[in-house]
Amino acid sequence: MSSRRLRAEAPTPGQKFALEVTRVCDTGEWIVYVISDRYYGLFTHYTKQGSRACQGVDCRFCKAVEKVWKGYAAVELLHKEAKCWVPTVLELTEHAELDVRGVWKRGQMWGFTQRVPEGKKHPAVTGQLLPPRKDPVVPAEFDIRPVLKNFYRLIELPPTVPNPLPPRVVVEARFIETPGSKAEQSPAESIGAQILAQRLNRALETPREAKNGVANGH
Ligand SMILES: [Zn+2]
Repeated sequence: MSSRRLRAEAPTPGQKFALEVTRVCDTGEWIVYVISDRYYGLFTHYTKQGSRACQGVDCRFCKAVEKVWKGYAAVELLHKEAKCWVPTVLELTEHAELDVRGVWKRGQMWGFTQRVPEGKKHPAVTGQLLPPRKDPVVPAEFDIRPVLKNFYRLIELPPTVPNPLPPRVVVEARFIETPGSKAEQSPAESIGAQILAQRLNRALETPREAKNGVANGH
């Protein structure tokens, strides 16, 4: 479900295929090109049968299962091996939406990764704005609603809702100024620091080389 096309079969030139939902998963960076300024959001419930759309006032899942927001956007996803951009419906998690909120715009390029902390069942997906794509042509927008209706088995999609999570509180570390910090360093000290850095690099490289040497010897 998450990315059948991108895992199993690489698209070939001229090949037509049905638009699918893509969920960021596994390791590595997923690079997307934004096709639409807006993304659609809805509440869902994770059930034994998979993700189900919240049915609103009379929702039968609301009593038993937590309500989770999910967003969907029209994007092109980079297929590195096939060297092509694949149109898809990108799923934005609550966490990933916090990264794109207020920034997301048609023509941008984003990198999404799933952090895999130990012992956590559902690792958070994070997004990072990347430098602009060299190719300035932004493809025509496509309608993601039919795909989502099929995905959630709905005749009509509920009106879009924003992610209820509050924005991130962004802070910065306050660095302590000590004598000999970068600004106060004399040229001689800088050279000393460079030599030290080179030594450190060499020291870090040596065990690997030694290891290879042993492996080759066998
Ligand atoms: Zn519900």
